[in-house]
Amino acid sequence: MFWALLSAFSLSAQEEATGPDGPYLIYGEEGLTAYWANIDEKTKESVSWAEITEAALPDFASFRPELVDPEREFKLPESVVYKGVKKIAAISDIHGQYPVARKLLETHGIIDENQNWAFGEGHLVVVGDVFDRGDQVNQTLWLLHNLQLQAEAAGGKLHFLLGNHETMILEGDDRYVHRNYRITSALMTRTYQQLYGPDTYLGKWLRSLPLAVKINDLVFVHGGLSKEVVKAIDDDLDNLNHLYHKYLIDGNIVEATGRSGKLALLYQREGPLWYRGYFMEEETTEKDLNWILKRMGASRIIVGHTSFEAIRSYFDGRVIAIDSSIKFGNMGEVLLIQDNKFYGGGLLGDKEAIFNRIAGD
Ligand code: CA
Repeated sequence: MFWALLSAFSLSAQEEATGPDGPYLIYGEEGLTAYWANIDEKTKESVSWAEITEAALPDFASFRPELVDPEREFKLPESVVYKGVKKIAAISDIHGQYPVARKLLETHGIIDENQNWAFGEGHLVVVGDVFDRGDQVNQTLWLLHNLQLQAEAAGGKLHFLLGNHETMILEGDDRYVHRNYRITSALMTRTYQQLYGPDTYLGKWLRSLPLAVKINDLVFVHGGLSKEVVKAIDDDLDNLNHLYHKYLIDGNIVEATGRSGKLALLYQREGPLWYRGYFMEEETTEKDLNWILKRMGASRIIVGHTSFEAIRSYFDGRVIAIDSSIKFGNMGEVLLIQDNKFYGGGLLGDKEAIFNRIAGD
């Protein structure tokens, strides 16, 4: 049954991006300018922000100029702890597979058919790794940007958490970008890192994003929290976000990691963006996990980063792994949480309680 659903979707998924790549909004002496690349023709186009509403723009998949404010200041939230949230959904490791992400969100009522927020006061958590591998990263970023603003206006929230691939791009490690972005980079005469640099609209936004949030008694983070990290941040997710931003986004990474054991820890294998220890018996034991949850005042930790063929739970549901291989372009699930029940939502609107699943099924 499961495979039948997958193949039904694969007819429409795995599409190469069509149309222009962009827009990339870059601030310069003349103000904000929108640039885009026509990959097939190998041409670049641009229009200044002052003229953008009148300009005949190409059909960008998800860009909405009316939701962009060039003066907008993005800021890391002071606190990322939320209580009393009734509806929660989470998706992870989209890796440029915009049609899959859009379909999952639409079929489960988080967005409508026009890509507008439809989740009311609910919270949607994107648990990192929108960047790299796929060819529709920019489209996905604009979708999330728009939804974040619409969610806020509706009394809900979209939390976009940094994954290791976001920080890799911000730090200039572009080994995993899709080949199309090499063409865009060449046409723009900017490195891929510079397409999301501090002088760009989306680059400013990306540099304001947290690594972790806590909603009700659930912690969300891309890789996971090791015991060492919990100790280093004094059990406080806000400490984690502020520490990471201060040194790794705003600061000099080599200097930061070279100097302090605490920062080196956050950046490396045991760090929150890279950790896979929940899925290795020798790294996190049941006792360790219980200690981590107790220190964090949480009942469960929800992570991406480590890929499975569907959403999986470990340690009797105290760890939920939601990287369900969206990266392949024809599969994946969204986690749906309502009335303390946890479901995996599939591409055709199918919904299954995840705690009934047998590991490895
Ligand atoms: Ca990852």
